[in-house]
Amino acid sequence: MSALRELYQEVILDHGKTPRNFGKPDSATCESNGHNPLCGDTVTIYLTVKDNIVEDVGFEGRGCAISIASASMMTEILRGKNVDEIRDMFERFHHLVTADEAACDGGFDGEDFEKLMVLSGVKEFPMRVKCATLAWHTMQAALKGNDQEVTTE
Ligand code: ZN
Repeated sequence: MSALRELYQEVILDHGKTPRNFGKPDSATCESNGHNPLCGDTVTIYLTVKDNIVEDVGFEGRGCAISIASASMMTEILRGKNVDEIRDMFERFHHLVTADEAACDGGFDGEDFEKLMVLSGVKEFPMRVKCATLAWHTMQAALKGNDQEVTTE
């Protein structure tokens, strides 16, 4: 288990240091800003939505490795997904990082779930849960067209 935990940590640090999809896609159709005052994380999520499908996604932000890694992994997963599917994924992700039982793999394909499992360790650190979920809350707000800043408080 500790080897697994080390691997997870490595993946988080890697995404934190070299975030994927960093920057605003030229084609972005919606965006939203999020802020986690407890840790000082800020994130902006950009989405290109066409015919209910997320065609492109990017983000900008500053914060701890977990908040950046979570945003980075989320952008890798969302591309090509449909908006209704993503709402469902948000629920499941939330469950993954807050609930005790791990029986929440439904709704993700195997590869996506493996990626997100890396973040499941945060459930032991309630303050870190907000770092991990910030990008997801902000993405939801962008999809809803909510241009007010999202805060985890
Ligand atoms: Zn943080």
